[in-house]
Amino acid sequence: MRIRLIMLISALLLCFAIAPVGAGKRRGAPAPAPAAPQSGSFVLVMHGGAGSYTDATPERLEPARAAITKALEAGRDILARGGSSLDAVEAAQRVMEDSGVFDAGRGAYYTRDGVPEMDAAIMDGRTLAAGAVASVQHIAHPISLARMVMERTKHVLLVGPGAEEFAKSQGIALVSPYYFFNERRWKSFQEKQAAEEKPKAGGEPPNEIYGTTGALALDKAGNLAAATTTGGTTYKMPGRVGDSPLIGAGTYANNESCAVSGTGVGEYFIRNVVAADICARVKYLHVSLEQAANDVVMKELVEQHGEGGVIALDRAGHVATPFNTHGMMHGVVRSDGNITIETFKP
Ligand code: ASP
Repeated sequence: MRIRLIMLISALLLCFAIAPVGAGKRRGAPAPAPAAPQSGSFVLVMHGGAGSYTDATPERLEPARAAITKALEAGRDILARGGSSLDAVEAAQRVMEDSGVFDAGRGAYYTRDGVPEMDAAIMDGRTLAAGAVASVQHIAHPISLARMVMERTKHVLLVGPGAEEFAKSQGIALVSPYYFFNERRWKSFQEKQAAEEKPKAGGEPPNEIYGTTGALALDKAGNLAAATTTGGTTYKMPGRVGDSPLIGAGTYANNESCAVSGTGVGEYFIRNVVAADICARVKYLHVSLEQAANDVVMKELVEQHGEGGVIALDRAGHVATPFNTHGMMHGVVRSDGNITIETFKP
């Protein structure tokens, strides 16, 4: 009898020991199936900034559409031949930085001192490695410098002269601020300056499209990457750093949840850690990418009057592009090679 009792207790203990961890938690609510990447397919999503497009005439929009198309093509070609999502987002962003029509590289806004200061970040969703630079004034391709910070230092973010010293040490030639001279941006800087000095006489300067650029990719191996590059907001204070180079605020990628790049008034994105919040909702609340992105951009940010939008991508190839502004230029290309670009809500 005693032996039987001992055997029964042992059997019960064994049952508890081999029960899967977390089985109790799942009782009643089936766990959602993890997003499975479709092997061999790829996606590249980009934005060219959220903001007011009220004065965006066709003459102004066309060069932007042409530039984002060229950037999507550059990234698409890399992904189509089996290249990595990191290579694709970097290549696409370099095209945007060269274009002079977005708020990045040659199109970067001027600070109040009349000099462009740029921020950029890149993140690898497979390893969570990340690199960023902020307040650089002499770097033609801040996104590539951000990648070097990620791959060649043990740090995540380098700023100002320290970042530029590091660039020199890596063989990157520093360029003069004149390299970034952009007539339209200069005119807008002068208008802001006049309005600041004589608010009544100058009147309100015209509305600006924010124009930061972001790229997210899912490669054929199923890895996500995110990159954002910007000149920040118009007429910002020298030394001001926005959300774009802050991992989790304006840029984030994690294979376990999603990749996000933000655009808008960076201070709100920083305070709300927007990119990381969207991915955390996907990961812990098991909501769809679209719901997570919408809840943050169209509810949380709207309640605080935080203007902006995001692009978001998960490993199953779902894309979300919510924006609470008048417009946000964004484009998508998938394995079929077709590029679609939208600026306004349908
Ligand atoms: N988010 C950027 C910043 O605040 C600006 C933008 O999206 O255009 O620096």
